[in-house]
Amino acid sequence: MPKKTLERALSVILNHALRAESSFYRNLFAACTVPTHVTLNDVERLPFVTKELLVAAPFSQRLFLPLTEADSVRVTSGTSGKGVLLFPRSGHVKRPWLSERCSKVFSYYYPYSGMDRSVRQHGVGHMGFDLEHPAATVRLALQYEPDGIMGPPAAMVAFGQYLEEKARARIIYIQLFGSRPSRAQFRALHTLYPRARISWDYASTEGNGISALPCETLEKLEQNMMHPCDSHFLEIIEPKTGTRITELDTPGELVLTTLFENNPLPMIRYRTGDLVQWVKTPCSCGAEATFEMLGRVDFDRAYLPKGIVLASELEHTLERFEHDIADDFELHIYHKNNSISLELLVRPQRQIEYAAIAEHLLSLRISPTLRLRDLSAEGLLKSVTCVSMPKEKVLGRRVTRIVPHEEI
Ligand SMILES: [Zn+2]
Repeated sequence: MPKKTLERALSVILNHALRAESSFYRNLFAACTVPTHVTLNDVERLPFVTKELLVAAPFSQRLFLPLTEADSVRVTSGTSGKGVLLFPRSGHVKRPWLSERCSKVFSYYYPYSGMDRSVRQHGVGHMGFDLEHPAATVRLALQYEPDGIMGPPAAMVAFGQYLEEKARARIIYIQLFGSRPSRAQFRALHTLYPRARISWDYASTEGNGISALPCETLEKLEQNMMHPCDSHFLEIIEPKTGTRITELDTPGELVLTTLFENNPLPMIRYRTGDLVQWVKTPCSCGAEATFEMLGRVDFDRAYLPKGIVLASELEHTLERFEHDIADDFELHIYHKNNSISLELLVRPQRQIEYAAIAEHLLSLRISPTLRLRDLSAEGLLKSVTCVSMPKEKVLGRRVTRIVPHEEI
């Protein structure tokens, strides 16, 4: 979007938020002066909206339209803490291709998601399923004969493991949402559903729908890359300092601002908790920017002495053991006396050599110039071990990749 158009849209949203009957933004911006015409630099000086602020604000302060104009009232999934009561309208960017790609969708059951209605709006049939009851889900799938499925990547893989080959072969479209698919999950989905085209986007209840989409080229690359939509202004910030990141290949937290009017709750600099980075645009589709989804700030990234460990790098390092261990491995980091010890929890799929996996983990990249083994030489890394995961897996649950343990 041209800079002037973007600044005009930001001005409209900010002025609306400050003049509205709802006092949420007036309270939040009480300490800053917001000019009538807002530049991109002005935006950088505005405070962030966080999930905690939304939870703390009374419902009436957050409602910018009469409640009767909201499509639904629902609580966000709460994967990263307490869910927020919100009242979205249908997103401004829809999935217009849905009816071209499938006719009957089977989607992961997610209470009050509004999925049923948004799918039916495209003239596509919809039925929800619940992986807590896999036998009933599979019986339903055999009766309903869907040709498309929608849900979080881990649930889509788990679902496929229950379905017989004939039913899986019927699936020609998979819409992923909820969490970032790993490369191993992409491969597992292609194996389970050989005819399916896999699609994903960046959507949230807080952002009132889709904020970023892959073009056809990005979709084929299957590397979690997307182009921002004109309906949202997206920034990436350093989570600790809040400073805006504009450099490529530098991970940070995604912050979104909704640019459309007639929104029940405009979001101005909402901290999504999602870990992303700007990357070089690898296509000629005309998009101005591209970002790569790396996971969640709290679950998929942790500080190490002299570096950062990212879930996406961990997945990359462990790819060679893809057939030996399941995809839900976790790395635990224990800090003690300025050094760290690492423990990798894995779920073996066959006879494995734990020591070999621990040894290979030393090649994990922790900065553009450093690997984990470089910390050993300086006495900053005490030990790396690999052990079997003790707990039982819950189907379709969110995968936490990295668990830092603060010094006791
Ligand atoms: Zn593109």
